[in-house]
Amino acid sequence: MSKRDYYEVLGVERQATDQQIKSAYRRLALKFHPDRNPGDARAEEAFKEAAEAYAVLADAQKRGLYDRFGHAGVNAGGAGGAGFDPTIFADFSDIFSGLGDMFGFGGGRRRRGGPQRGSDLRYDLEISFDESAEGTETSIVVPREETCETCTGTGAAPGSTVETCAQCQGSGQMRFQQGFLTVARPCSNCRGTGKTIAKPCTTCRGAGRISRERKLTVKIPAGIATGQQMRLTGEGEHGTAGGPLGDLYVVVHVQEHPFFQREDDDLYCELPIHFPTLALGGSVKVPTLKNREELHIPSGTQPGTRFRLRGKGMPNVSGRGQGDLHVIARVAVPKKLSKEQKHLLEELARTMPVQAEDGSGSEEKPFFERMKDMFT
Ligand SMILES: [Zn+2]
Ligand SMILES: [Zn+2]
Repeated sequence: MSKRDYYEVLGVERQATDQQIKSAYRRLALKFHPDRNPGDARAEEAFKEAAEAYAVLADAQKRGLYDRFGHAGVNAGGAGGAGFDPTIFADFSDIFSGLGDMFGFGGGRRRRGGPQRGSDLRYDLEISFDESAEGTETSIVVPREETCETCTGTGAAPGSTVETCAQCQGSGQMRFQQGFLTVARPCSNCRGTGKTIAKPCTTCRGAGRISRERKLTVKIPAGIATGQQMRLTGEGEHGTAGGPLGDLYVVVHVQEHPFFQREDDDLYCELPIHFPTLALGGSVKVPTLKNREELHIPSGTQPGTRFRLRGKGMPNVSGRGQGDLHVIARVAVPKKLSKEQKHLLEELARTMPVQAEDGSGSEEKPFFERMKDMFT
């Protein structure tokens, strides 16, 4: 792909002044900045293209080479473009100084030392199936970062003072010129805080924050399902410099039940029923969440038949009633038989139609036809 002309990219004349080039680039960079076009690959390409053009045209020497030799003049080695520096994403202050925060660039532009909201925390809580059905109250222990009370977050021992870092004059950053860009790195003397402490607080060792475990009581509503979460406002970490507290999210994981399976607010279970009951009809007991329910089985009930017990499912977590319980009939085949049972079954078997092992049996109807007959 051939490269576009740098003047064309920036939309300026070849005689454009440095100031015109700069403001043209500023306009394009603001328009196509990735922070303002999240996920837009074309905007990012346009942004990089403008940055590359500006990197050349803003540099008198490179611009001169470009004017005489075109892209070849500034494209040392070919690949990588005209010394396009990816750190352009990291620091814009030289281009955007004076614009303030009105453009709301995310990341890296938050003022150091200003109030920041505390981090949100996540706690994964496992509860039993019965607890999810009935609701419960449980206590959890959550470690979080809190502002040190001894030094009220300054990190300095009581009576001692916090001083502005001499190396970075309190900015917390050291700036380096790299081509046309200014690159900022955290100050090594104060580790980016902008402050030095003569006598650090002994409680927090100068960090201003300490990790503390908190015991909290969590109310879990009946009907909660795996993956649902509860937000405990203000139970996250402390903010810095008076910033608000973060929140705590308790994410619930419900253990499986050996008998019930949940789907939305409905429950499903498989109930083994003896063959005579299925054949003759009768009544069986079905375990439910709270007790046992009587279920009428009509005569000739087939395995796989579904019965619905209304309102015997899970309670809705928002308090909107109960789901249903679906009971799927299965055949219970005894593994051990008494002498009498064996005798009776043999008697029964004698009265049943003969079941040949293939379609060429003694009866006239084909195998699958006879199979069908047996079950109707
Ligand atoms: Zn402290
Ligand atoms: Zn410093």
